[in-house]
Amino acid sequence: MPEKFDTVIVGGGIGGTALGALLAAGGQKLFLSEKNSIIGGRCASYQKDGFTIDVGVHLFGLTDKGPLGEVCRRAGEPDAIEWVLARNPRVAVHRGGQTRPFTREMMTSELEEKSVSRLAEIFAKMGQMTTDELNPLWYVPLKNWIEGFTSDRNIMRMFTMLCGIYLCLTPDVASTAEFVLSLRELLQARNSGYPKGGSGVIPLTYQRIIEKHGGTVRLSCPTERIVIEDGRAKGIVVGGKVIEADRVVSNADIKATVLELAGAEHFPREYVERVQNLTYAAHVFALKVALDEMITDQKMIMYTPDLTEEELEEIERQILEGQAPPGAGGMICVPTNFDPALAPPGKQLIFFGIGTSPHQEWEPWEKICLDALKEVFPSIEEHILWKVAHSPDDIEHFAGEEGNVIGVGQTIDQVHERRPTHETPVKNLYLCSAEAGGHGIGTELAASSALELADKLLSAS
Ligand SMILES: Cc1cc2nc3c(=O)[nH]c(=O)nc-3n(C[C@H](O)[C@H](O)[C@H](O)COP(=O)(O)OP(=O)(O)OC[C@H]3O[C@@H](n4cnc5c(N)ncnc54)[C@H](O)[C@@H]3O)c2cc1C
Repeated sequence: MPEKFDTVIVGGGIGGTALGALLAAGGQKLFLSEKNSIIGGRCASYQKDGFTIDVGVHLFGLTDKGPLGEVCRRAGEPDAIEWVLARNPRVAVHRGGQTRPFTREMMTSELEEKSVSRLAEIFAKMGQMTTDELNPLWYVPLKNWIEGFTSDRNIMRMFTMLCGIYLCLTPDVASTAEFVLSLRELLQARNSGYPKGGSGVIPLTYQRIIEKHGGTVRLSCPTERIVIEDGRAKGIVVGGKVIEADRVVSNADIKATVLELAGAEHFPREYVERVQNLTYAAHVFALKVALDEMITDQKMIMYTPDLTEEELEEIERQILEGQAPPGAGGMICVPTNFDPALAPPGKQLIFFGIGTSPHQEWEPWEKICLDALKEVFPSIEEHILWKVAHSPDDIEHFAGEEGNVIGVGQTIDQVHERRPTHETPVKNLYLCSAEAGGHGIGTELAASSALELADKLLSAS
């Protein structure tokens, strides 16, 4: 008799590994197939010349106080991940040739007095809104909500930046309630940080928990097909062999799951059309630079070049049109200042990430990143050992979904009750990722999807 599992999971990103840890710790017999040779999807890390490089993620919003920590708590290992908070030094801003710690005053220094009080009103409202007040705002674009308070372009620009950093969306499409809830949680928890060992430590920890509870995790093991018979998911095919299970959960791209792995013929036409029309969050190009010595003690620096309103708008237009705009702003992260063990002793690793769009020539983007790093750290070139670039095309190759940052975008037509659900029209076929259910930012969206689905599956079994 072939071995049969309670659940098979397709994909070992945060959604897949977190769900696997919760189900295995809950007593389920579990099999997880991951196509890559390393676990973690967009939250994976890999080794190069003694450095630990993250594929994507640089900062975690709520760390142990959020869903990523909750997975460990529910799996009975509350301290399994060691977090380093993004304070001391606090996040800095590089502007006008100077790097300074970010302060509230910095946010308001360019605003007229009237606008300062408007901004205070917006933040106060965000902090106080009840669920009843928030509910209608799921389907209102953030831009419209802000315009209800003020027409100040500097305030809109500030929210454009925050919405870009956290939801990877522009405010004309982003859901107000999703943005408000996510930012409010961040401001209340004051607990953003990064795990010791690099981003990949999180999925690796979940993998360890799965295996500790007798589950099987197979790397370099692509799922070729999801087996569906009589309208029910029965298992998956890996290496030409069927792995049978009572249910299949896909952590892979929702479009690939429905259209390729399962096959559109198994779903109602409206569902297929809905899946085909889903839109993703935005894209990031990241340059990762290994240095022969430490050149900064900052953990994170927002690089905001001194540009006029018109110049900033021109840069935004060029990015949306797929051009590489010299002088664009971005985020600098220094993972080795969270955990020096991510590099050989005395060496340093610096990332620069910038918003972009997929499928283009990447050399000009590398130059933009390097020029920004040279402005912030004038001596950097003398210390560069090597550089690696991660473009959206690399992310697509690694984790699918056109290489976007988050997954299905948290736009007004794709949040809350309009978000793809864990359940699909095929019986016993579920989705679990930053693309189905859940709430929050990036990895925490994927982990909250896993927490919600684990509750449903464990209470049903
Ligand atoms: C550059 C970048 C920066 C980011 N920065 C942050 C940040 O600072 N903070 C934050 O919280 N989030 C950040 N994110 C977002 C975050 O990484 C993602 O939202 C989250 O990791 C998505 O997890 P997931 O489980 O939904 O999907 P994924 O990570 O995409 O995992 C899906 C997995 O399924 C596997 N798979 C696909 N098809 C198959 C198949 N046929 N068989 C087997 N396996 C398969 C893939 O290989 C992958 O491992 C960033 C992402 C990127 C790209």
